[in-house]
Amino acid sequence: MTYQQAIQIAKEQLEAKHIYSGFAFNYMLELTQLQDLNLYLIKDEEIPTSLLEVYQQGVIRLLNDEPLAYVLGFEWFYGRRFKVNQDVLIPRQETEELISNVIMDMDELFEDHCVIADVGTGSGNCAITLALETNSQVIATDISFEALEVAKENNKLLESNVTFFQGDMGQPLIDNKLKVDVLVCNPPYILEDEEVQSSVLTYEPHSALFGGQDGLKYYRQILDEAKFFLNDKAMMAFEMGFSQQDNLRKEILKRYPHAKVSFKQDISGKDRMCFVYLNTVY
Ligand code: GLN
Repeated sequence: MTYQQAIQIAKEQLEAKHIYSGFAFNYMLELTQLQDLNLYLIKDEEIPTSLLEVYQQGVIRLLNDEPLAYVLGFEWFYGRRFKVNQDVLIPRQETEELISNVIMDMDELFEDHCVIADVGTGSGNCAITLALETNSQVIATDISFEALEVAKENNKLLESNVTFFQGDMGQPLIDNKLKVDVLVCNPPYILEDEEVQSSVLTYEPHSALFGGQDGLKYYRQILDEAKFFLNDKAMMAFEMGFSQQDNLRKEILKRYPHAKVSFKQDISGKDRMCFVYLNTVY
């Protein structure tokens, strides 16, 4: 069987189950790239049995609606490959936008060296990217021991030097009397009764997805905690749900009446990012 034929069979199987059939090609592309093979050049060649077996096993998982990132064991984020498993949320494109905005703001607002906290780090994607893209010291927390294991492994694989603490949201920062200039947080923000894609619901950790009845539970918590670990001049950057702008603004201004709050949309035009500036020039 050729590479092309194997892909075609998988494509038809996925189509029959109404699962995105583009995975058939993407999955093979990633697998061949891992072996330094150029799929475009070899697609009509015979596929080695061992690779075909791996591919077919993976396709079975895709047919069960498992996300491609878990099947592969990694996801790309900001141009780097992050290890993922079912203990961590799969890094999303929207979050890349959040990080890119943070990097731009930091450039404008702070001197060379910043201390950044990434609360609820998951796979470590935000923390590690910020550590590698900026000249800052990065501290990351997560309540899940298993998630931190993944984040620490990514930190090692990608040769960054993030410091990790296990604990609830910002509590470890308070306990260790740390002070930071920038808080980045992509908390669980899905509303309790919001409809969620079945592959997400079945495979991704619920503790990373759901933010209580109105989706704002963890924003309230981190906004309360941040008072204790933010420097006077500071910024906070949150990812958020598309319907949360008004309520989130209220929660912020209740606690930080003098803050400058701004929102940005993701590439699909939905409210997705919230930035809070405290005593900065913005
Ligand atoms: N910080 C990680 C991310 O942005 C995980 C976030 C989460 O688990 N809610 O992808």
